[in-house]
Amino acid sequence: MKVAFFNTKSYDRQSFNSANEQHQHEIIFFESHLSHETVSLAVGFSTVCIFINDYLDAEILEKLAHGGTKLIALRSAGFNHVDLVAANKFEIAIVRVPAYSPFAVAEHAAALILSLNRKVHRAYNRVREGNFSIEGLLGFDLHGATVGVIGTGRIGAIFSQIMYGFGCKLLGYDAYQNTVCLKLGMEYVSMSELFAKSDIISLHCPLTAESHHLINAEAIAQMKHGVMLINTSRGGLIDTQAAIDSLKSGAIGYLGIDVYEQEADLFFEDLSSQVIQDDTFQRLLTFPNVIVTGHQAFFTSEALANIAETTLSNISEFEQTGDCANAIKIDKAIASK
Ligand code: NAD
Repeated sequence: MKVAFFNTKSYDRQSFNSANEQHQHEIIFFESHLSHETVSLAVGFSTVCIFINDYLDAEILEKLAHGGTKLIALRSAGFNHVDLVAANKFEIAIVRVPAYSPFAVAEHAAALILSLNRKVHRAYNRVREGNFSIEGLLGFDLHGATVGVIGTGRIGAIFSQIMYGFGCKLLGYDAYQNTVCLKLGMEYVSMSELFAKSDIISLHCPLTAESHHLINAEAIAQMKHGVMLINTSRGGLIDTQAAIDSLKSGAIGYLGIDVYEQEADLFFEDLSSQVIQDDTFQRLLTFPNVIVTGHQAFFTSEALANIAETTLSNISEFEQTGDCANAIKIDKAIASK
């Protein structure tokens, strides 16, 4: 199929060109995001492939439909950036990559925990400047700490296995109990109980209308003073201003985020020569007990290979059958919102 790839970096082109040797789709890579300004580039492409920071609203979907697009292939698991009602209306199918490397994201969440706890980010800078003082670098044993996992699907379960390996006690919150987690001794509790009892809380649920700002001032007020909060899922799960207020008061003792609610204007680009205009984001960076990474949790070579292979297989399957096992069942997804 003729596929327009938007928002591509060198690593995308490399992994997709390699995987396409099998599939032989006709691929054109664009560096630009898919937006109101660039949507005309997609005219004549039956398939458009996008990443998480390409927002598909009704207007863009309508233009894509008029240009002949029948399929949107997401290079991601999450689909909160697509207006599913409009996609349904304009008869555009949406396929995604439900799992590419849950290990990558779970391991990154663990990396944030270890770095924040043992202050590796601060120690790195100190030692490079010849400062070998360990004042202020005091950590705590993860062994025996209580870890609350919100969303115990694929990534949450692997994250739970990792934390179990450190000797942590596991609490879970999810409508569905995962047998992998139950075998680790995870206790499923209410959200309030998880907030009240956890030393570390890690978010592994999708962003939906229901979970938007799941972590707000009211939720933080229920948590242990000095809690460690980790978000490798989606930025919109945390009310950033509430997190900043709680960091200032000490209610949040550590914050590790790979995602940020306004990340679309920042992440994946080199802005090192520019003045960043987002004051909320800049305030976050001033805290010594905050680590921000730029949506890199997924970024392992295994994950990139899996994303490329699954995306191209999704397109092939749609081309051959008119449907795809990884298609988002739009009616169902809308109903669950
Ligand atoms: P999954 O579908 O396997 O698991 C998600 C779990 O969350 C499910 O068990 C579901 O029942 C549960 N859930 C849904 N709504 C919830 C809510 N309001 N409260 C608690 N639990 C809820 O998904 P996954 O593969 O484990 O991925 C989890 C999330 O990780 C994705 O939604 C995506 O946003 C994020 N992600 C981030 C990166 C990254 O690079 N940072 C990469 C991939 C995925």
